[in-house]
Amino acid sequence: MPTPNLPTKPCTVCGRTITWRKKWERSWDDVKFCSDACRRRRSSPDDDALEAAILTLLAKRPRSSSICPSEAARAVAGDDESAWRPLMQPARDAARRLAARGLLEITQNDRPVPDASRAKGPIRLRSPR
Ligand SMILES: [Zn+2]
Repeated sequence: MPTPNLPTKPCTVCGRTITWRKKWERSWDDVKFCSDACRRRRSSPDDDALEAAILTLLAKRPRSSSICPSEAARAVAGDDESAWRPLMQPARDAARRLAARGLLEITQNDRPVPDASRAKGPIRLRSPR
């Protein structure tokens, strides 16, 4: 969990929590990325498409049901596995960004994960309860 009392914000690329550090004292407002990898990757057009696909899929389902990130990857890239498989990690990142904005919950075994930044293994997505 993030250290109490320190400001946090979501990484604009992967949605993981960024916790304030002393070295960012003067530049905190400009901090956008959690890591050099995210700084290099930046955002791609797929990212917005994946966020939109997740929200559309959730809107079509009953509030009690959930979706798999792969459904969003398929919605964006099509059903050919070689096309949607590379979008699985970007789909999970998109889910974290949306969760950070309170637009969905990330669950494992039907329970919300306390810290989506560190969730390992398969996740599902549902509308906030
Ligand atoms: Zn990141």
